[in-house]
Amino acid sequence: MDIEIIRSKRKSIAIQLKEADKITVRAPLRVSDKEIMAFVESKMAWIISNSFKLKMRQEKLDKVKPLSELELAELYKSAKEVIASRVQYYAPIVGVSYGRITIRRQKSRWGSCSAKGNLNFNVALMRAPIEVLDYVVVHELCHRLEMNHSARFYREVRRVMPDYEQAERWLKVHGDEIMAEVHGN
Ligand SMILES: [Zn+2]
Repeated sequence: MDIEIIRSKRKSIAIQLKEADKITVRAPLRVSDKEIMAFVESKMAWIISNSFKLKMRQEKLDKVKPLSELELAELYKSAKEVIASRVQYYAPIVGVSYGRITIRRQKSRWGSCSAKGNLNFNVALMRAPIEVLDYVVVHELCHRLEMNHSARFYREVRRVMPDYEQAERWLKVHGDEIMAEVHGN
């Protein structure tokens, strides 16, 4: 396990684990190495459990076979049709209008909705079960009613899709795999 110590004008010590075998410690200027090591040791259980999780995640991602350019092009093509038809289906159920639909290959988001009602969707959603794709569609359409993630927003999502939390869970567990399929590892 590598330890990198970064001292700066901060008030407390914090530990970060970006890779399975590298700890980054951020510490105030005057804290000694000994104190830092004692702090790291006190967090060892957390470090080991998170290091294990990161390793498992990396192993999972290493097994993912990225799509070829051709497969990706096909995916875009079908995404345009499939997602447009899902949006068309759900918009009247949510009770909203919408603008342009764009399919993108984004690394960090599944979809977005602009103030004008233009919708963006991540092409990787095409590799998810249709219920999950539908959830993201409903989620973005509900932003036409509420531009936030308030309780009112989720009440609307639940009205249209009572078991939306399953889709959220699926994205949490498998989201990085389908992202890796369209982006490579
Ligand atoms: Zn949202």
